[in-house]
Amino acid sequence: MENQQKSTEKVLLKGLTLSELINYFTSIGEKRFRGEQVFQWMYNRLADDISEMNNIPKPLRNKLLEETSITALEYSEHQTSESGGTIKYAFKTADNYIIESVLIPEVKRTTLCVSTQVGCPLDCQFCATGLMGYQKNLNPGEIFDQYRLAKKLSGEEITNIVFMGMGEPLINYNNTFNALKIFSEQLTQGISQRKITVSTSGIAPKIYELADSELKVKIALSLHSCFEEVRSKIMPINQKYSLRENLNAVKYYAQKTGTRITFEYVMLKGVNDRDVDIKELAKIARDIPSKINLIPFNSLKHMQPSGFAAELEPTPKARINEFADKLRERNISVFLRETQGGDIAAACGQLAVKRQ
Ligand code: SAH
Ligand code: SF4
Repeated sequence: MENQQKSTEKVLLKGLTLSELINYFTSIGEKRFRGEQVFQWMYNRLADDISEMNNIPKPLRNKLLEETSITALEYSEHQTSESGGTIKYAFKTADNYIIESVLIPEVKRTTLCVSTQVGCPLDCQFCATGLMGYQKNLNPGEIFDQYRLAKKLSGEEITNIVFMGMGEPLINYNNTFNALKIFSEQLTQGISQRKITVSTSGIAPKIYELADSELKVKIALSLHSCFEEVRSKIMPINQKYSLRENLNAVKYYAQKTGTRITFEYVMLKGVNDRDVDIKELAKIARDIPSKINLIPFNSLKHMQPSGFAAELEPTPKARINEFADKLRERNISVFLRETQGGDIAAACGQLAVKRQ
């Protein structure tokens, strides 16, 4: 019975890397270059359907139509923010989960923020995705398809991809890695690796693993505090992989790949915006090739959190500016991230699908 079910299930080609596709085609008795052709159709020409693949001979195309599938996600709905043209998309997986991706058009670039999990198990106290809990890992096809749909639906030329949507990419490592491999393959002709950023709450062993791989994408570490105790309180994962271990890991990453680390820092009133925080932050930033992104905290009051999460308040704008200035006086490179799409809850860390 189990075998019968398996034989009727279609093979999901979307999400296979170039070498996996070549293996698939040779395993069914076809030439290697069919793998390259299908790769190009899926990831470069962004085909919605196998029937579009007109350089694949009809009999093989029919076989593929019967036995395989290239659709990982379907469009569900979208909202456009009134302020900056940010669009939040909701996409549906084949098993009926809703995930979100955010498109942020700016003057010189258009960034797509992709999700890697439905929900997130890590429970950071300031994060809406954390509050909704963990539901499942996305596979590489589901990660890639966010790009296909966002690009086709918006008509925008996407120049940058950030893995900063729902989920922790490095605890879904193999799927994230294969998606990165697909994005950065020559044949995809999409996005240069330097324009892809993986944001992590700090899974030190996986940062080393990525550093030692063939990829050279950028890493953003969600720092949020330079003190172990404070960080553990707002990010429980810090009890498993400490700040110290993570700083060593990103330092190694920067050296190994020749990239600059981005430290993300959500400004929380009284928690991480004190003068001692400036001092420690400057020390860390001087030690590691990096820049700091100060992020205004998007309040989660609408989700009625309990415990410590309920106490968190945003740092006032004036203090954020002062905090940035004092870091700059110490020659640290600091960026203030404007919250984009706050009106549609599309800003970073607010991605959570409303529970039914
Ligand atoms: N799990 C990864 C990537 C997704 S979170 C990570 O934690 O890095 C993406 C970014 O949004 C992180 O820097 C996260 O700290 C930030 N973020 C989470 N909640 C936020 C909130 N309420 N307001 C502003 N930024 C938030
Ligand atoms: Fe997960 Fe990142 Fe949110 Fe933390 S901030 S709960 S790691 S998505």
